[in-house]
Amino acid sequence: MAEKEKTIRLDIERFSTDPEDLLAYGFDASGLSGTAAVVAWPGTTMEVARIMRQARQMRAAVIPRGAGTGMTGGAVPAGGLPPGGAIVLSFERMNRILEVDDVNLTVLVEPGVVNGRLQRELAGYGLFYPPDPASLEFCTIGGNVAENAGGPRALKYGVTRDFVLWLEAVLPGGEIIHTGVQTPKGVVGYDLTRLLVGSEGTLAAVTKIRLKVLPLPQDVLTLLAVFGDVGASGEAVSRIIASKIIPRTLEIMDKDCMLAVENRGPVGLPSGAEALLLIELDGHPEAIKAEAARVIEICRMLGAEVTMAEDDDAREALWRARRGVSPALYQLCPHKVSEDIVVPRGNIAAMLSELKALAQKTSIPIASFGHAGDGNLHVNLLPKEKKDLTPVLRELFEKVLALGGTLSGEHGVGLTKKPFIQMEIGDAELDLMRRIKNVFDPDGLLNPGKIFPEAEPPA
Ligand SMILES: Cc1cc2nc3c(=O)[nH]c(=O)nc-3n(C[C@H](O)[C@H](O)[C@H](O)COP(=O)(O)OP(=O)(O)OC[C@H]3O[C@@H](n4cnc5c(N)ncnc54)[C@H](O)[C@@H]3O)c2cc1C
Repeated sequence: MAEKEKTIRLDIERFSTDPEDLLAYGFDASGLSGTAAVVAWPGTTMEVARIMRQARQMRAAVIPRGAGTGMTGGAVPAGGLPPGGAIVLSFERMNRILEVDDVNLTVLVEPGVVNGRLQRELAGYGLFYPPDPASLEFCTIGGNVAENAGGPRALKYGVTRDFVLWLEAVLPGGEIIHTGVQTPKGVVGYDLTRLLVGSEGTLAAVTKIRLKVLPLPQDVLTLLAVFGDVGASGEAVSRIIASKIIPRTLEIMDKDCMLAVENRGPVGLPSGAEALLLIELDGHPEAIKAEAARVIEICRMLGAEVTMAEDDDAREALWRARRGVSPALYQLCPHKVSEDIVVPRGNIAAMLSELKALAQKTSIPIASFGHAGDGNLHVNLLPKEKKDLTPVLRELFEKVLALGGTLSGEHGVGLTKKPFIQMEIGDAELDLMRRIKNVFDPDGLLNPGKIFPEAEPPA
């Protein structure tokens, strides 16, 4: 952000064309990268609107950006940029929690607020915002809204979309819109809020967000169930839910993930186990004690050893291990390819054996972890050397779809999954999505080249 002569001048206070800024804002957690012409740090909605207007004059793309923890290249300035290049629109400075309303149980935030900071701030009011991506200490609420982020607690509480009541957003061209309601209910007009949530920054730049919040649960119990067989852990997931218990989290980690975490920095995960489940129950202390007893019984019947975290430190250590899986796998294999497939949870055991068979057939190790309670597995392909895995991914997705699943539970399409989107979405539906994109963004300047495959669908 040096105040030297800039080749491109934006009509806002903070922007940069310094090569180091262009480099730092050119990639995300997908490992993909590109180069913007300029990085902008707006401080207000009006500045965002000015950038949008200027981008239209310059024929430049605008790439909204939160913290760059996205796994599919959504915030990367690449994938078909117009002649004017790209303006990365970083929401880092728009990071205020504007209002905590403990009567109506809502909170109003700017998009750059980091999820974990919001969780802590709300806890001080006895309030609770459930969506908790494993990246919560870095990712922003704006990025969560754009990706419809989930997280371990989605099993009981739902995903970001279930908590967004109202949005302020800026359309390409600079028009400011407000969608949704500030009340628990509201059915006037089309639900533009739900359309914008999960639109991956391709329809509008979100500048304010009103979220629903809940009272903080009275108590939490955390269980660690260690299995000698991966299939048994998948079966435990199905049986726990079938017994009418909905834990707030039901996370799975296979042997390779445990080894990777221990390699990165020992946290005391059991050695020799094939899989573990991290199970958390929340609610009234007596009720969750009874639920925990039933969960322990189910897991033990399937051959698991089960322990309960004795205090907050022990619980936090387990979550540190869980949140450390993705970075640990990166350390093990910097060119890993990570997918976040979902199957109906009754098919988790079948999916796990399909993954085992795929790893054997291709000789590519596959490490899996994730939100097993949602049927959402983070499948990590760990080839010895960097290579094109498109055919393997295609085979993986075929198996997922055959089991009634979907290609992505929470990471979105972005750049990495767009070659595969037609495996799941039909031509008519994809065409409708293109037309919606065109209504919001007729010049194709907002995050272009994302989601939609290059080729036009057949007429
Ligand atoms: C270690 C690790 C663990 C993760 N765990 C989870 C998990 O458990 N659950 C989960 O859902 N995801 C997870 N993710 C993925 C990622 O953290 C989420 O997708 C997150 O929502 C991205 O937020 P961000 O602020 O980093 O957004 P970015 O990566 O900066 O952007 C993501 C997308 O949002 C758009 N965008 C950002 N801000 C705005 C805005 N204000 N208006 C319009 N569009 C915008 C961007 O253009 C881009 O398309 C994980 C990632 C990592 C690296």
